[in-house]
Amino acid sequence: MAEETPATAHASPAHQQPSPPPARPARLPTALVTSEHFLDHRTPQGFPEGPERLSQALALIEALITEGTIPLSSVLRLAPRPATEEELSVVHEPGYIASVRRAVEALSIAAAGSKGDAPGPIRRFATDVYLSPGSYTAASHAAGAALVALDAIASGAARNGYALVRPPGHHALPAHGMGFCIFNNAAVAARYAQQRYGWERVLIVDYDVHHGNGTQDMFYSDPSVTYFSTHQYPWYPGTGSAEEIGAGAGRGTTINVPLPAGAGWSVFDPIFRQVLWPVADRFKPDLVLLSAGFDAHFREDPGLGEMRLSTPDFSDLSLEVAEIADRYCDGRLVAIQEGGYHLTALSQCAATLLVALTGSDGIIDTLGQPEPLRFRWNDEAIIQALYQLHDLSGYRRKARRPGPIPGSQPPQATAAAPEPDQAEGKTP
Ligand SMILES: [Zn+2]
Repeated sequence: MAEETPATAHASPAHQQPSPPPARPARLPTALVTSEHFLDHRTPQGFPEGPERLSQALALIEALITEGTIPLSSVLRLAPRPATEEELSVVHEPGYIASVRRAVEALSIAAAGSKGDAPGPIRRFATDVYLSPGSYTAASHAAGAALVALDAIASGAARNGYALVRPPGHHALPAHGMGFCIFNNAAVAARYAQQRYGWERVLIVDYDVHHGNGTQDMFYSDPSVTYFSTHQYPWYPGTGSAEEIGAGAGRGTTINVPLPAGAGWSVFDPIFRQVLWPVADRFKPDLVLLSAGFDAHFREDPGLGEMRLSTPDFSDLSLEVAEIADRYCDGRLVAIQEGGYHLTALSQCAATLLVALTGSDGIIDTLGQPEPLRFRWNDEAIIQALYQLHDLSGYRRKARRPGPIPGSQPPQATAAAPEPDQAEGKTP
């Protein structure tokens, strides 16, 4: 959780020497790595993943810093650099990287031949992936942004970081882009941290509403990277069943939490407290990466996500992840932007995530909460199924929150729920 606020001196009797407040090192700032390069990756009109996602989030964050809601001293603004082809090739096939570069070069040549201020051509490259003349620069900077954040943490300039980027990355496979993603930004960052800084055990937490099939694929047999994903299931891209747990030496280091449509904080909160914590306790990460997609927000377009998290809920989950980083790896945490397509929800969640990374539980939200449910999910059944599958007994977990969980209804409204031994993790 957030660090304590500086101790306030207790009132001392006049005859006693007042003891000075204990010296506390100032909290290092959060590296915010972002760039207008990301606006140059253009997609067709009406496509959900467009430049306005980033421009709106950036505008809100800038306004909050200017007005002092986010203290200037708590944020270290940094420009990204492009990830090199060598850095990308630790998770992507060189031929794929070259094919993206060549396709963008061809578009740039075509754009040079067009007249005036025409925005230039846009070309479909893969399923749900378009390229424009600025796409290689944007995508390589998106992969490089988290690397800049990692450098800032390693040098002692920042406590943690937020790569506010587009295009997103967690669907990108070694040799294929898909689902709005070109390069797998989180995967590139995990390998860079291992190779550059020796942060060998990397925990990737992914709360985007979609399963990060690309990230899972890249580390499926690798015990040095634990991938933990909560996602709507079944849903795009179709992967992410609880039974996908890794293979070979990596068996057990993929933890999928497939959730039914409509799940909200009353399910996510106990899963983070009672499943993610023991996963982290067993793994003891040297670094935590957060694939921060906000498309599980209740205001998301139902074509993209059907979950019921609110902006304050995302704050809670992000603070939980930050607390895990505090406990196991000196707070080393880099959040990397994934999805989120409702522009207001995305920008307010992005600002709230930045606030959380600075150590505050402050919320930037005008959207409120979803309508209360008329039943309660059997989250205990989901948790027990995951305990059995992953043998998580005996590791540190956080206590469930006492009392009724906000958003759930009184017992008389509770629908029949499956017994734990009948549940399969994805059953409400
Ligand atoms: Zn998503």
